[in-house]
Amino acid sequence: MTDSRRWDTGSAARGISARRWRAACAAVLLLAPLGCSMDGAPEVGALDPVYAAPAEEAVVRALRRGQTLGELLDGAVSANEQASMLLALREFVSPRRLRDGTEVTLRFLREDGALRGVDIALNRDETIRLTRDAVGWHGTRIETPVYVDTLYAAGTIETVLWTAVIRNPALQSMPVADRNRLIDHLDRVFQWQVDFSRQIRVGDTYRFAFEREVRPDGSMRAGRLLAAELVNAGTAYHAIWFDPNGDGRGSYYDLEGQSVRRAFLLKPLAYRRISSRFTNSRYHPILKTWRAHRGVDYAANRGTEVMATSDGVVIHRGPKGGYGNLVEIRHPNGFVTRYAHLSRFAGGIRVGTRVHQGDVIGYVGMTGLATAPHLHYEMLRGGRHIDPLSVDLPAGDPVPSEDRVRWMAELPARLALLDAVPGAGPVRTAAAASEPAAGDADSGGADGASADRGGGA
Ligand SMILES: [Zn+2]
Repeated sequence: MTDSRRWDTGSAARGISARRWRAACAAVLLLAPLGCSMDGAPEVGALDPVYAAPAEEAVVRALRRGQTLGELLDGAVSANEQASMLLALREFVSPRRLRDGTEVTLRFLREDGALRGVDIALNRDETIRLTRDAVGWHGTRIETPVYVDTLYAAGTIETVLWTAVIRNPALQSMPVADRNRLIDHLDRVFQWQVDFSRQIRVGDTYRFAFEREVRPDGSMRAGRLLAAELVNAGTAYHAIWFDPNGDGRGSYYDLEGQSVRRAFLLKPLAYRRISSRFTNSRYHPILKTWRAHRGVDYAANRGTEVMATSDGVVIHRGPKGGYGNLVEIRHPNGFVTRYAHLSRFAGGIRVGTRVHQGDVIGYVGMTGLATAPHLHYEMLRGGRHIDPLSVDLPAGDPVPSEDRVRWMAELPARLALLDAVPGAGPVRTAAAASEPAAGDADSGGADGASADRGGGA
């Protein structure tokens, strides 16, 4: 009882400090995105004394391979106490299921060396704190506190988007794994408009506002792009997050409120290289003959996840000649897609299984006629092969009419986020974005027309 109360107080104090820190961070972020997380992280750690009595000494141990929690506690706790502790822990997790390397913190009273508590870090986001009171040991689940900040970054692509984002000076203090996740977010948001592996041109620019939850150690727990812009070969693409019900099930729209989604993903893999395109004749390295290649090959490591590119029903799952392990999916409107050379199938994928766009259906391999791990992807319509890279795919739904007013009200705030990106200039509206596509003379005419309209008003 006493112990839970003590924790609650500590938790509240920590929350206030984290909020205060967050406010300071938000101000700094505009000038130096992310510099803050590094400077600030140790500060969050320094808050510990707020709830931990100074008379306490902590000893951190890691569970060795094959070692039980009881063995780790030997010497520090009597057998009786151990039984009581394990009982308390069992309310949250089976002690036998703790992984190797689990961090266990023993907290002793400095005064008399008595063990007053044990913290068991289940994962980066959850710790079980065991404390002793008059009755015995009991446990509390503690969620690692996170702070929320917004990253702003902009840049020019000199080779590929990946390099541009990984090397962006504004993101240097973000762990590399988190920068990779950020690229995945960008790729997922823009996947219907631009194929990063083939359409990106030198000189293309990007900018975004990315909201994330950050742990005290500076790593990211979760994140979401709030607004993003990609200017590809002179055309500006926007993706604005809109979640009318606030339940996290929103979607991305362009500046006109049109969905950025399409009925089919441009590609069945995240951010991979195309190694062979759709042609009517090419030399086959294994068959040593010239034959048509009625699909697209994506080079990828064995085991890379393969996604269904649209909603549908699995109509084949198993080996099929040169295709090796093949998944075939039937979609509405006479479309069929095929995913070949898989090393294995995803769990739950059988003939008759309903899949949704983006569901993992299998993993890249080199079964069948393949010289290296890759995915061979085919699309058919009405039984005829079509080139998945050139087919004009049907669009998703725009902002629903009942949410239109809300959308119009939220849009300026989202655009302001993009305007706030240091060094990126004002957001290009649809009208401005179409200018570079027109010839010089034409764009001059367009300017003149808008000036005329301005004069008439
Ligand atoms: Zn192929």
